[in-house]
Amino acid sequence: MNSSLRLASRPGGWPDDAPPRSACFGLSPEGCSGDTLEDLRSYFRRLSAHHGMLPWTFAFRAIAPLLGGRHFDSRRHIAKDCYGLAICGITDLAARWSNALNLLTLRHDLERHTLRPLGSMLSPYKLLSRCERFCPACYAQDDRSNNPKYNRLLWLIDCVKACPIHGMRLKQIPTPKIGDGEAFWLPGSSRVDGSNLARDVAEEAYPEEIKFAWLVVDLLEDCQLRPDAFLGSPAIPTFLSHASASLFGGIAATFAAELGISKGEFHGWMTGEVHPSLHWIVLMAYCCNCRVSDVLLGNTPAVFWTGRPRNLDYRLVNKKRKGASAPTSVLIANFEQLITSGRVRCLQEAADTLDVSVKFLHKIAPDHSTRLIENGKDYQKDAAKANGDAKFSEFLSSHTRLRTKGPYASRRLVVADVRERTGLTFGFRQACEFQRRANRMAGIAE
Ligand SMILES: [Zn+2]
Repeated sequence: MNSSLRLASRPGGWPDDAPPRSACFGLSPEGCSGDTLEDLRSYFRRLSAHHGMLPWTFAFRAIAPLLGGRHFDSRRHIAKDCYGLAICGITDLAARWSNALNLLTLRHDLERHTLRPLGSMLSPYKLLSRCERFCPACYAQDDRSNNPKYNRLLWLIDCVKACPIHGMRLKQIPTPKIGDGEAFWLPGSSRVDGSNLARDVAEEAYPEEIKFAWLVVDLLEDCQLRPDAFLGSPAIPTFLSHASASLFGGIAATFAAELGISKGEFHGWMTGEVHPSLHWIVLMAYCCNCRVSDVLLGNTPAVFWTGRPRNLDYRLVNKKRKGASAPTSVLIANFEQLITSGRVRCLQEAADTLDVSVKFLHKIAPDHSTRLIENGKDYQKDAAKANGDAKFSEFLSSHTRLRTKGPYASRRLVVADVRERTGLTFGFRQACEFQRRANRMAGIAE
């Protein structure tokens, strides 16, 4: 811990018994129930906005020193975590971030805005969504009630596909093109053009997806109400034995078949050697008509079989790929044709097109795969260069326009002008470099 950062102080002249002031604003997190609780990343973004800083800068200056970042590079490395969802997950990273934010704001409850309280119960496998998602109707509701728009903890859990309140399927936050990803907006604003995501439209969700979401909401609420119960190890084998005896006469193989899983994997769950992912745990609770916390804590409630959800199979079983049934020579020929025609730019795209896994493709055609990976790197470089050129063109345009109005077009004015005209943003180093280039082109001395 860096002791040079003052976390709490008392303004001069205040009485000695006055409470100390926190280093950062003591912003209150939003939401209090399982379906409305704000996630830590969203809280952090709003807090940084209150301090007038971009989240990365705020993380670099305030969080990284508390997490042991003594040098510039290590602080940069730590600050990068502010972009990921892992700071809201179940790992030590979430604990460290919530602890640091607690210290800065003199709060003590920020860990409950992560999945950390369920850390000893859940497997990290497929727990967090791979992308940021949102419900437009929830954002619209925030707008109508004059509250800040914020992201719900529920939305970042992978097996939750729908907003349980509005019955809408969660939408993926639009991501900017390669090279434009530095901008990091407040929750509820598009990272592409800054537009209000509350105006977006979502599809109606299946009833099973909504039920799944409510089951996870119940789990979050159970954890809030009885945190001590979730401190130990999961007791899933106890529940499985109970459900197997109650529903299938103690025949585990039938239970496994009804759930749609192999006997071997189910045996691993029964012995406690393997922890199922949250997807499977929620499916068990759904099929047995009980709560997710019953499965995790090894409770023995009355259960009855409701059957597998019809519309969710595609999310709960491993993806069945049919491409591998074709002869290897045909697959390799098709793969080569994809590369030469330029239809695919990375190995994942090729694997998806051929309906095989990336691992399988790499195994049958290692040379082609390596070639495609190299091509992908070149493509990314070209795309980043083209993007940089386009941004400089806009920068130069604003620079020229502002010079005609006043004696000197400062970097800040130019950046603000480009942002207002196009929504483009610049990193500090990039803006400095563009300013130097534009000045040189205009014949202005450094
Ligand atoms: Zn909603």
